[in-house]
Formats: sequence, structure tokens, C-alpha cells
Amino acid sequence: MPKVNMKQGKRWTSSHRLLKLKNKNVFLRTNRVVEKVLFHQNFEAYGIQYLHLGKSYRVKASRGIILSAGVIGTPKILLLSGIGPKTHLDKLNIPTKVNLPVGDNLQDHITTGLDLILLNQTLGIGIEQMLSPFSVFEYFLYGTGPWTTGGCEVLAFVNTDSTDVNRDTQPDLQFMVMPLGINEDIGVHLRHLMGISDYTWNNYFSYLNQMKAMTILPILLHPKSRGTVRLRDANVNSLPIIDPGYLTEQEDIEVLLKGINLIKKLINSRSMEKLGAKLNTNIFPGCENFKFDSKAYWECYVRHLTITSYHPVGTCKMGHEQDVSAVVNYDFQVKGTNNLYVIDASVMPTITSGNVNGAVLMLAEMASDIIRSKDFFSRKKCSVIEIFVSKDFC
Ligand SMILES: Cc1cc2nc3c(=O)[nH]c(=O)nc-3n(C[C@H](O)[C@H](O)[C@H](O)COP(=O)(O)OP(=O)(O)OC[C@H]3O[C@@H](n4cnc5c(N)ncnc54)[C@H](O)[C@@H]3O)c2cc1C
Repeated sequence: MPKVNMKQGKRWTSSHRLLKLKNKNVFLRTNRVVEKVLFHQNFEAYGIQYLHLGKSYRVKASRGIILSAGVIGTPKILLLSGIGPKTHLDKLNIPTKVNLPVGDNLQDHITTGLDLILLNQTLGIGIEQMLSPFSVFEYFLYGTGPWTTGGCEVLAFVNTDSTDVNRDTQPDLQFMVMPLGINEDIGVHLRHLMGISDYTWNNYFSYLNQMKAMTILPILLHPKSRGTVRLRDANVNSLPIIDPGYLTEQEDIEVLLKGINLIKKLINSRSMEKLGAKLNTNIFPGCENFKFDSKAYWECYVRHLTITSYHPVGTCKMGHEQDVSAVVNYDFQVKGTNNLYVIDASVMPTITSGNVNGAVLMLAEMASDIIRSKDFFSRKKCSVIEIFVSKDFC
């Protein structure tokens, strides 16, 4: 579940609030995997089928079903239910109930630039403080200290398009500033978290073991590249095939290169000079054939060092009923079905100009109002006057 804010040194999530509410009409069942949605006549959703301890169960819904399984989980459930691109479902022998572009339009915020800045001093938090028993003590006793850091200390948003007269309108880059590099833990944990191979670690990051690094990540906010989520087969236990399509559009590389140029300018600023900041001039493995600091070198670097910032969206795109690229309409309803809704980051047609979670929560608030009012009006018995005043609602 998503992150919301910090309290007593911990990141809190929307589930914390939900659990606190103790609503009598909320029943939580954990350790269940939803397999598919059940339909009458291929369009009327009436329940779901889920797996629990290897057995399948069915639950009926009297009013409607809301899928909130996220950008990968929701398209997976829809595809297994026969809602998706017919060509793909045909290959897996899943009968198509509604032919929709489920799983297309995958977008993500990507970044580069790990350990690109080297310093001659530590900035506050280092591995020693993290591993100190005092830090552990401080965290559990008072909710303070190094263990409460979110990692990222500063965020900045920039519109790098110098031809855009209205430069305040939409940033294309976000900078995430962290006071340490991934070399800080000498390869024990962070590099595995980032999926860095032994070869790259040994030939690039491990050289920095005796040095202090800091991180300014340039994050591509509005990628042009698109990816897909598809089923591997018709088995609910199989992992889906995620093709993120990162950097398939050259424009995305150009924006990240602008980000690296801005970082180089920052390094030369007086404040950074005071910290002894300098550019990491080690050649990134795979880019040995390019002259360091040339455009070709940085393009190679970006292609080799691309990481997600964990903000995927868009695989069940929202749009007009007539929009063939849309999966849900503006009422969050899956097109061509009844009583089936999607509320999560998958409905975003394009990605946000910043972290996604707040926008997901706002979508959820809005969706609950829309769905509740739809449900109210569909049940409402209309008087003769109301029929004349507003035919839509009766
Ligand atoms: C490591 C990490 C760090 C992040 N940091 C930030 C941040 O600092 N700020 C920010 O704004 N955003 C952050 N995000 C992104 C943010 O968490 C997501 O954008 C947000 O949670 C998306 O919400 P969602 O409701 O779409 O999906 P999710 O929060 O992913 O919820 C989907 C839920 O459905 C469940 N599920 C999936 N399939 C099934 C199934 N078949 N049956 C039953 N349950 C299923 C999943 O287990 C999950 O609990 C981060 C993400 C990650 C991974």
C-alpha cells in the first residue's frame, strides 16, 4: 500500500488509516490472490474468484467490484478475466469478453546518475551512524535519529525547455538529492536493491569504496516511451511479462542528458565546491569506447545506468468512451462492462509531474464520490417532476 507521510519517525500508509477506522462495513481478508472477475453474459460483473492456500473461492458482489491491484496487478486480473487485447488473449486461449487495450500505455519515472558526485567529506548520515546500536535505540525508543531518514533530503523541479515561454507550467525533470551514494554500504545491500550486476559493481562502484559519494538523481518526469504488461500464460500463479520500454524514444535520453549537464553545473557552484564536490570520472562499464564527458559517452552512460523511481502508471488508461486507447471511462468504469471499476495508478492516462502516491489518493477520493453518486441515482425512484428536470438521474 502507498506511503502517505511521516509520524513518529515512520512512513505511514493509507492502510494504517483504513485499519484505524474500524468501519463495520469493511471486511479485510489478507493472503488472498484475486484470480479473475466473474461475469454474467460477458459484461455484467457479479463477483470475483480468488485463491487462498491453493484453493479457489468465489465471492459475489451485490453492487459492484472495484479493482485496486495496482499498475501490474490490475491489468493481470483483467486479462485473466478475458478483458484485454483480443490478439493477446487468443494466443493464450482465453476467450475475449471485451477487446480493450489493457496493459498498454505503461509509463514510469526513470533516472540515472548513481554515485556521479564525489565529495571530500560525509554529509551527516553514513553507514557508521546507520549501524550504530545508539541509532537503533533512538529509533525504537523516541522515533528519532538516523533510522527515521527517508533517504531523500531535497527535491527540485525544473523545466529545461528554454523555448517554452511559460516555463513555470510543467517541469520535465525532478532532482532527488540524497546525502550518500550506493557505495556507502560497500555493496552489502543497496546494490542488490538496485539490481546492479557483479560486473558493473566490480568495475565501477567498488572503486569508490574509499570515497564519499552523494546522489543527485535527475528524474525524467514526462517520458515519451511506453511499455506493456502482458500475461505469460493463463495461470494466475505465473508472473506477468513487464516490458517497461524505457528509452525507446530518443527524446527521453535528451532530457536526461540535460539533467546531467545541470548536475555538472551544480558541482561547479560555490556551495558544492566547499564540500569538495567533483564529477566521478570513472568510465562506466560498456562505455569504454567513448570519450569521457562527450555527448556520446553520456548517452551510453544513460542507456547503461537506467533505474526506475518506482512510479509506474497507465496500464488501464482513463478516457472518453470513444477513445480506443482507453480502458476505463471518466466514471472509472471498465468500458463495455457493468458494475466493474478500476481505482489505482493504472487509470492515469499520463504520468504526474512528481511522486505519484498523492495523486492516487486524490483519484480514489474522487472515484468514491462518483461511484457512490452513480449508485445512489441508479437506485433512486424518480418522481414525475424529476423526470422532467433531469432525465439522466432517473
Ligand atoms: C519502493 C517504492 C517506493 C515508493 N516511494 C514513493 C514515494 O516516496 N512517494 C510516492 O508518491 N510514491 C512512491 N511510490 C509509488 C507508490 O507507492 C505507488 O504509486 C502507489 O502505491 C500506487 O498505488 P496503487 O493503489 O495503484 O497500487 P499499490 O499501492 O501497489 O496497491 C496494489 C495492491 O494490490 C495488491 N494486489 C496486486 N495483485 C493482486 C491480486 N491479484 N490479488 C490481491 N491483491 C493484489 C498488491 O499486493 C498491493 O497491495 C513508491 C513505490 C515503491 C515500490
